[in-house]
Amino acid sequence: MRFVARAERAKYVYKPMVKHVNGGVATMERGLTARFLGHVFDSERAQKALGWTDEDRRAVERFLLEHYDFNRPNGFYLEDAQHVGEVAMPAAGAVLRCLEFFVNEAGESEQCPNEVVGDGEYCSAHEPVVPPEVPVAPSEVVNI
Ligand SMILES: [Zn+2]
Repeated sequence: MRFVARAERAKYVYKPMVKHVNGGVATMERGLTARFLGHVFDSERAQKALGWTDEDRRAVERFLLEHYDFNRPNGFYLEDAQHVGEVAMPAAGAVLRCLEFFVNEAGESEQCPNEVVGDGEYCSAHEPVVPPEVPVAPSEVVNI
């Protein structure tokens, strides 16, 4: 799953690293942290890079989906809504979503996951653009 955060760098600690001292020997128990770099946290890449088990990855994904900051204007959201359904989803936040619908690879209708810009009804990618009225000469008309 790819999560996108408003902040360029953000850190969400699911399980802090724990130091155990046993008979004078310190051992570190690995923690689980979602680190957003360049606005993005990719749980599958984190799993590969950090040696997480599938269970670790799913725990972090669930933690993020249930986090207060999920779907919040200053928090983060899921980049690709196709994965939703694998994990129990919390109630949607108060963020207005783009009204654009598209058909995904499974042939299902899906709503654009992006937030609305300004007080419009679409995200910046789907904001309808009024085409400038440029007369086209007949020779430039191409049939596709
Ligand atoms: Zn959109």
